[in-house]
Amino acid sequence: MSKILNTYNRKKISFTKGKGSYLYASNGKKYLDFCAGIAVCSLGHANDYLIRSINKQSKKLWHVSNVFTIPEQEKLAKRLTQKTFADYVSFQNSGAEATEAAIKFARRYFYSKGQPKKNRVLCINNSFHGRTIAAIFASNSKKAIEGFGPKVDGFDHFNFGDHKGLEKAITKRTAAIMVETILGEGGIKVIPDFCLKGLRKLCNKKKILLILDEVQCGVGRSGKFFAFEYAKIKPDIVPIAKGIGGGFPLGAVLVNKKVASGMKPGTHGSTFGGNPLAMSVGNAVMDVMFKKDFLKNVSKNGKYFIYQLNKIKSKYPKIIKEVRGKGLLIGLCLHVNQAKFIQKLLDNNLLTVRAAENVVRLLPPLNVKRNEINLGLKIIEKVCKKFK
Ligand SMILES: *Cc1c(COP(=O)(O)O)cnc(C)c1O
Repeated sequence: MSKILNTYNRKKISFTKGKGSYLYASNGKKYLDFCAGIAVCSLGHANDYLIRSINKQSKKLWHVSNVFTIPEQEKLAKRLTQKTFADYVSFQNSGAEATEAAIKFARRYFYSKGQPKKNRVLCINNSFHGRTIAAIFASNSKKAIEGFGPKVDGFDHFNFGDHKGLEKAITKRTAAIMVETILGEGGIKVIPDFCLKGLRKLCNKKKILLILDEVQCGVGRSGKFFAFEYAKIKPDIVPIAKGIGGGFPLGAVLVNKKVASGMKPGTHGSTFGGNPLAMSVGNAVMDVMFKKDFLKNVSKNGKYFIYQLNKIKSKYPKIIKEVRGKGLLIGLCLHVNQAKFIQKLLDNNLLTVRAAENVVRLLPPLNVKRNEINLGLKIIEKVCKKFK
């Protein structure tokens, strides 16, 4: 009998080691891993360069408090700001912590401007911003909030794609709009570029902040470092996590100068956030991701994968309803039972993960090889062919 609190519907399978895009299970089988710890293992398992980087740091220094200067943090922050819209970075440990910090920074900005009542955040119904008490009420999915009342106030909602509903929901008290650039858990729903541009314009017009949650779709997953880069817009606040640590817990919030002006010493903190061990991995992930052609390859492989999946879809239109996504953040929206489909893929040695709207997520490591994508395609086609 497991002594782990029963909060996950776990599969029986467990793994003893990983290498690149593959996981090796205790049952002796080898699996192609297109779950990648849910978009976390961005450079695959047991990446030699990441191992060397963390090993080197682990012999020098693991942790010091943020009351001291941490050079490894300065380095990663500098690189994140040089490569993006951001002027400043605050390090956290996870996605939920990063999205909550993002909400705090937005509120503090208006507080510091003498508008303390401008403190509400407008989010999409059934989105996903994490599992902490505020983040679940920001996400507003029935399943996530049930039993966890009282409701945390300060969040308003509109439906995905409902432009009129969005405009109507903005009041004098709205401080920010917070959306995932591509909804991950919500079913790989891409917000089109013209909508992102519209969101930026709307925020400018109403003088409110734009928070783009890139915890899942960011850090190269979409084929650009940030998914919003496709729309050529600049948000004000961006929480990231998942892929930036390559498997080590690491989150961050990127902000522009304007938002940064609302914060001062003592207004936010995190004991572990940005410790030298985490920073060594974050810096190593950045080294690899900003090598020439790395992101271009993610984009190319993503296009190829989606093109081939659409071919399978047209062969099996009663099984696959729609192929969604960008880069290597891909969703198969199914006509058939999702859990059964995921189990059949698993039986054929391919690991995937569910999302809302009957979607199966395909999230290979960003350095996945073309022949590994082809193997994944072969398994998916086989499962479609035999599916009953
Ligand atoms: C996973 C996720 C989070 C929460 O991250 P945790 O590290 O699990 O706390 C927040 N936002 C988005 C978009 C996510 O996909």
